[in-house]
Amino acid sequence: NDFSGLPLPPEVLANLKSLGYETMTPIQAGSLPAVLEGKDVKAQAKTGSGKTAAFGIGLLQGLDTRLYQTQSLVVCPTRELADQVSKALRQLARPFANVKILTLCGGKPMGPQLASLDHPPHVVVGTPGRLLKHCQKGSLKLDQLRTLVLDEADRMLDMGFLDDINALIAFTPDQRQTLLYSATYPQEILAISNQVQKNPVEITV
Ligand code: AMP
Repeated sequence: NDFSGLPLPPEVLANLKSLGYETMTPIQAGSLPAVLEGKDVKAQAKTGSGKTAAFGIGLLQGLDTRLYQTQSLVVCPTRELADQVSKALRQLARPFANVKILTLCGGKPMGPQLASLDHPPHVVVGTPGRLLKHCQKGSLKLDQLRTLVLDEADRMLDMGFLDDINALIAFTPDQRQTLLYSATYPQEILAISNQVQKNPVEITV
């Protein structure tokens, strides 16, 4: 369960090594091959399982940084998680030249966020309400999105974000990869998965 078995460039493997990632965690071993193949993934994963790298390595690999378009979106339940995910993505993005990653969360002033969106980031990480607000204003364009990640989906539903998430997804193309990570799989999460994913590969660890 070594990362070197995956179709990743040597500089990406070297960066993982420098971050201290030697062997894949079960969620990474289970989901990374499918993520890298562009498949939808529905994974049972909690904090500490290594889920951020499981989707992060995949979404960074799919970016075309020559295009100044938002190609990946990670939706998180809280600002704390969004900040943590952005930080992890920045570490994983070190071998790639000029990847722009932007965090958009509620409770922060709009002005600086609007200014940052003048030059579209390749990757956006944020919380549902603020992401939706930017889509509705037209400041965040998701029409070129390739990968959508719903992180800690069960917590997002617990927090009442279902409508915001559905409205947000309506701004994304149907032809996209959707990765869903959730610690638990109540009926509502299965329903969301059925609605927004296509033949997802299921991973339980
Ligand atoms: P996460 O579940 O994504 O929040 O990750 C939990 C912690 O595990 C983070 O501090 C990661 O840096 C670390 N981590 C993720 N994948 C690996 C790995 N393959 N080997 C060692 N540490 C890892």
